[in-house]
Amino acid sequence: RMAHLAIEGVSKLFGTTFAVRDFSLEVGDGELVCLLGPSGSGKSTLLRMIGGFEHPTGGTIRIDAKNVTTLPPERRPTGMVFQSHALWTHMDVFNNIAFGLKLRRLPKVEIRQRVEDALALVGLADYGRRMTTQLSGGQQQRVALARSLVLEPKILLLDEPFASLDQHLRERLREEVRDIQQRLGITTLFVTHGQDEALALADRIVVMRDGGTEQIAPPSTIYRQP
Ligand code: ADP
Ligand code: ADP
Repeated sequence: RMAHLAIEGVSKLFGTTFAVRDFSLEVGDGELVCLLGPSGSGKSTLLRMIGGFEHPTGGTIRIDAKNVTTLPPERRPTGMVFQSHALWTHMDVFNNIAFGLKLRRLPKVEIRQRVEDALALVGLADYGRRMTTQLSGGQQQRVALARSLVLEPKILLLDEPFASLDQHLRERLREEVRDIQQRLGITTLFVTHGQDEALALADRIVVMRDGGTEQIAPPSTIYRQP
């Protein structure tokens, strides 16, 4: 599952404003990096460019040395989880997670096995037949995570996945994500504007401001309040 990510001089211009400006970063195999910064500092735009949902104005993004800068999301080995999960309300949990596998026309037995494994991984082993509308907010975000992981991405991209949840639940899910991330050894970028969240989760923290990096350091040596 491990992969190496290299972001080289990436910029994104919206109109006359740089959302991201000449940004460079390398993320190693199995590392968890938090992008931390105030609203509007370019965290989401950067993550969306890594996932292929936006294309850079300039610069290069490589995954395992392959240039993916202009590839669409479905042709990248990335999986993205958004703040609002956008689960399909007309499908049960199983089918929400199976959807991407069905598109790939995998055999039914393999789909069933992989969905069951993904559900077990996020602690929802018996929830396959529930409708997503019957789930709590935290359970819905676990389904969103399973839906992403079932496609076996090499890089996991999480954009403030727990921002809409209360503090207690957010802390619990944070621990679960850290646990899953370490078990899979999956290279992960996690966007947050919460310093406590970044300190609890990250191997390294990238502090962003005005589309650039203000500081890059492990939690133990990060010193400046963003
Ligand atoms: P963050 O995730 O740190 O809150 P964003 O990446 O969402 O920051 O936004 C960075 C800057 O880019 C902001 O000024 C925002 O208004 C602008 N921006 C983001 N997306 C768009 C867009 N689709 N069109 C125009 N401006 C955008
Ligand atoms: P968040 O703070 O949760 O990241 P944003 O307000 O930054 O939310 O962005 C929500 C959506 O709106 C994103 O798809 C982003 O690209 C888009 N967006 C953000 N700022 C602008 C803007 N100034 N003009 C157009 N779209 C924008």
